[in-house]
Amino acid sequence: MNISTGSIKKVVIVGGVAGGANVAARLRRLNENVEIVMFERGGYVSFANCGLPYHIGGEIVDRHKLLVHTPESLRKRFNIDVRINSEVMSINRKEKFVSVKDRKSDREFREAFDVLVLSPGATPLRPAIKGIDLPGIFSLRDIHDMDAIIENLSSMRAKNILIVGGGFIGLEMIEQLKHRFASSDVRLSLVESNPHVLAPLDFEMVARVEEELLKNGVNLLLNDPVTSFETSGSGLAAFTKSGKKIEADFILFNIGVRPETSLAVDAGLEIGARGGIKVDSQLRTGDPSIFALGDCIETKHLVTGESGVIPLAGPANRQGRIVADVICGIDSHYKGSLGTAILRVFGLTAAVTGANEKTLNRLGIESQSVFLHPSSHASYYPGASSMSIKLIYSPKTRKIFGAQAVGADGVDKRVDVIATAIYTGLTIDDLTDLELCYAPPFSSAKDPVNLAGMIAQNVEENLVQILHPKDLAAETASSLLLDVRDQEERENGFIPGSKHIPLNELRGRLSEIPKDKPLVVYCQSGQRSYNACRILMQNGFRCKNLTGAYKTWRALS
Ligand code: FAD
Repeated sequence: MNISTGSIKKVVIVGGVAGGANVAARLRRLNENVEIVMFERGGYVSFANCGLPYHIGGEIVDRHKLLVHTPESLRKRFNIDVRINSEVMSINRKEKFVSVKDRKSDREFREAFDVLVLSPGATPLRPAIKGIDLPGIFSLRDIHDMDAIIENLSSMRAKNILIVGGGFIGLEMIEQLKHRFASSDVRLSLVESNPHVLAPLDFEMVARVEEELLKNGVNLLLNDPVTSFETSGSGLAAFTKSGKKIEADFILFNIGVRPETSLAVDAGLEIGARGGIKVDSQLRTGDPSIFALGDCIETKHLVTGESGVIPLAGPANRQGRIVADVICGIDSHYKGSLGTAILRVFGLTAAVTGANEKTLNRLGIESQSVFLHPSSHASYYPGASSMSIKLIYSPKTRKIFGAQAVGADGVDKRVDVIATAIYTGLTIDDLTDLELCYAPPFSSAKDPVNLAGMIAQNVEENLVQILHPKDLAAETASSLLLDVRDQEERENGFIPGSKHIPLNELRGRLSEIPKDKPLVVYCQSGQRSYNACRILMQNGFRCKNLTGAYKTWRALS
């Protein structure tokens, strides 16, 4: 392979963390001669943003572990000219230089480039809410924010902590603050403006996460945006749209980020409709000498084809490799992102990949989804727990659009397998066929991924019709609801208005079921009700299986 930067003698990089540091390191590995200068506005480079909540919580004890590289180690290992506390203020595209401000000395200087790489990341959203700049209200983005948060929390006896924003960082912080204050009775509140936390997941799936938050004592306020902050006594108070007042001595405000595009805008580079820098598949901006990557760009969503901002570490790291390749004449391309993401909330893991139902509906893309609640591994082997999976696919092409999973164990590997399946264009039939690892401590002979494929195939081959729990209320007026669970399960709760015939008695009691009405059949997870539907259909009944079954219905209600 011909690896040459050609006429490019000097590359200047803006931003020295995930994307920027990756470009620099790969570039050096590919080419020993090109001059690499990396400017970082803050005091640290190549640190682990994703680890910040875990140091605040105390799970990552040693702060140094977050600093993957220092300017000195990058200089020694990769011969990169790293300048920290150096903010790039503007770009002169015509004369090919950037103006840089040394934040320690306030000195301004110019740095020439042949190629410029922009990886300035994203900025936490801070809408113009009254009182948002009061001392005691923090956002978490970098090491400086983390240090300030830890200093603040260490200097007081926190009693009430409020997190505004139920996204990934907000929930990680709730978990970690509970960990940090495990031995004291700190009251944790979470306010979210949307009807549910974790916007990338659909409502039925996050219900379990919200239950977990409540189980861990979190005061959860949904669908209720914060409208103002005020000082109150010795601390602060947040007021919500519905008129609630939440007292807090510490507030974390993390409602999302927006791409950091000020340099690009001032330089006249094109910005997309979603607010990120527009780039081609080789991550070039409209100016062939300027590349951009990471949280500041728009990328194509691999399922919907929509352009969007997907601020995740995996894409930023992989894009770094591609930018370095392209600078060195290697014909690499970034195909797009799936938005695959995961988080732990106390005892649960939630993960998502591909498109969710909300997005597909918004775009008018026809989709079908099935729910299942399989065991994390063979149920007879100790320690198995139930997970919930939602598989979303195209009924036309049978290709997989997305998946979401929530559970105590084994969620990550199932969503990773499905992410790979989406990336390679596999169908529900392929999921059934995949040969995956199995021994009792790890999985079942039919892995949850296989089961998801089988359930979807059953639906598409008309072996059973399904009804989604969210559509149940509309259906019950004209249908008879049939519960085929065992007596003990029924005693622990049932869907009102349902008739009860346990599956094992069904064949002998068919005469009790009227034939003039369609049936909606449910069990605990959807498997026994599928068996029941097969018996009923072969005996002339019209019926639908409640997908996700009692578990999903209960989560929704
Ligand atoms: P960054 O890594 O943010 O780097 C941008 C750098 O550019 C910053 O250090 C900034 O100071 C610097 N900069 C900006 N403007 C200038 C300028 N004008 N001059 C000089 N320097 C400048 N993603 C996941 O996939 N999984 C996770 O678990 C996860 N957890 C996260 C937890 C937290 C607390 C945070 C904040 C983020 C998390 N992310 C996670 C997101 C992930 O860290 C980002 O997607 C990724 O770091 C983006 O890389 P980037 O290079 O675009 O930006």
